[in-house]
Amino acid sequence: MEGACEFDIVVADPHGFCSGVKNAIKIAEQTLESSGEPIYCYHELVHNHIVVDRLVAKGMRFISSIEDVPVGGTVLFSAHGVSPEIREKAKVRNLKVIDATCVFVQRLHDVALSYVRDGKTVILVGNVGHDEVEGVRGEAPDAIKVVSTPEEIAALEIDDDGEVAILSQTTIARHQVDTVVEAARKRFPKLERPSRIGMCFATEERQEAVRAFAGNVDLVIVLGSRTSANSNRLVDVASEAGLKAILVSDVEDLDRFVKSGALQGLRKIGITAGASTPEDVIDGVIEYLSSFKAGQ
Ligand code: SF4
Repeated sequence: MEGACEFDIVVADPHGFCSGVKNAIKIAEQTLESSGEPIYCYHELVHNHIVVDRLVAKGMRFISSIEDVPVGGTVLFSAHGVSPEIREKAKVRNLKVIDATCVFVQRLHDVALSYVRDGKTVILVGNVGHDEVEGVRGEAPDAIKVVSTPEEIAALEIDDDGEVAILSQTTIARHQVDTVVEAARKRFPKLERPSRIGMCFATEERQEAVRAFAGNVDLVIVLGSRTSANSNRLVDVASEAGLKAILVSDVEDLDRFVKSGALQGLRKIGITAGASTPEDVIDGVIEYLSSFKAGQ
C-alpha cells in the first residue's frame, strides 16, 4: 500500500487471552519444564497455531490419537476437555494424565451429565466436530444431541412432551444461542434452560466489546486462528452489528489484505483478538498499522 493513511486505531476491551487459555498454557509450560520425559498433548492445547508452534519449539508433541502415546507415557488434555472414552483409553494405556480442561468446560460436562442422570435429553447448541462439543457429547452420546440452527431443532427425534434441557458450547455467539433456544422453547414446553451455564463470561465479554464498535469503526480486525471458534464468532458478531470484519492470524496474514489497498479511505479501525491469541500478536499488528498511519 502506498502513502500514509488517516485512520485511528481502537482496541477492544477485553480482548485476547482468557483465564482458561492462560491456565492451560501455564500447565503445559510447567509440565514441559519439570518432566524429564516427552509430553504428548491430545489435540491442540488451544486453537491458535502460534501458541501451538511455540509449545512445539519447547518440546511438546501434539497427537490426534491416544494410541500415539507410548504405554506409561504422559498425556496432556487440552483446555477444550475430552470425553470419558478418551479418559478410559488413557487409563488402559496406563498414561499419566495432566488435565488442562477449562473449569467452564468441565462445568458444562458436569451439568450435562447430571441432566442425563435425571432422565433428561440434553440439547447442546454448538458446532459438531469442535473438540469441546465432542467431549461433552461423549458423556452420553445417545442422550446429548448437538444442534447449531433452529431448523435442526425441528428435525430432532425427541418426544415434544419429553423432559429436555438445553445447554450451549462455551464459545458460541449469543445471538445463535438465543435463536436456537427460542425454537426449542416453542417445540418443548418442559424445556429447562439453566442460566449462566454454557457460553462463558470471557466469550460474552469479548463479543460485547465488539458490539460496542457498532457505528464507531469502519473495519474490525479480529486476530485469531481460523480454527478458533470464539475468534470466528467475533467476526459473526461484528457482521451482525453491521460492521465489516476480517479474521487474520498474524501480521503476515494482515499484510496480504492490506496490500490490496483495503485500508485506503478508512477513518477508524477496531482491533480485537480471540481468547487464544497471544498479546504480542496484537502488539505486532498495532505497530504494523501505526507504521502506515505515520506513512513510514
Ligand atoms: Fe474457558 Fe471460556 Fe476461555 Fe474457553 S473461552 S478456555 S471456556 S474461559
